[in-house]
Amino acid sequence: MERFRDILKASNLKSTHQRLAILECIDTHGHIDIETLFELILQKYPTMSKATLYRNIHDLLAFYILEEVKLPQQKQKYEIKKVPHIHLLCSHCGNVEDIFVETKPLLETIFFQSGFEISSSFIVMNGICKRCSSKK
Ligand SMILES: [Zn+2]
Ligand SMILES: [Zn+2]
Repeated sequence: MERFRDILKASNLKSTHQRLAILECIDTHGHIDIETLFELILQKYPTMSKATLYRNIHDLLAFYILEEVKLPQQKQKYEIKKVPHIHLLCSHCGNVEDIFVETKPLLETIFFQSGFEISSSFIVMNGICKRCSSKK
């Protein structure tokens, strides 16, 4: 909770109960779509409206506290902004994992080969997660 208070403070945003609840819930789930988030938030804050949730998500995105996660064949998800990372998407259970590997050499190779200057990237690797492959 303290961590999120600091993050909000650094962006001059008020640490409202709603914002803290939203951030904590997203953090716990890693990557979450807005419908699921809304259901979970309602359990704690039954009075929060969908409009309030959307407004807060919008603000947190605008201040780069949250990030959109666009995965193929999945609903739009959100995550707490982290250092650049790669997403591992399990085609069996649909789970999304973050993997923190250095992407700079890859981006440099791309620039070297194409001259294309990458301003942002979103990398998804499809496959079978450890849990699913051990069940086989
Ligand atoms: Zn899996
Ligand atoms: Zn992620």
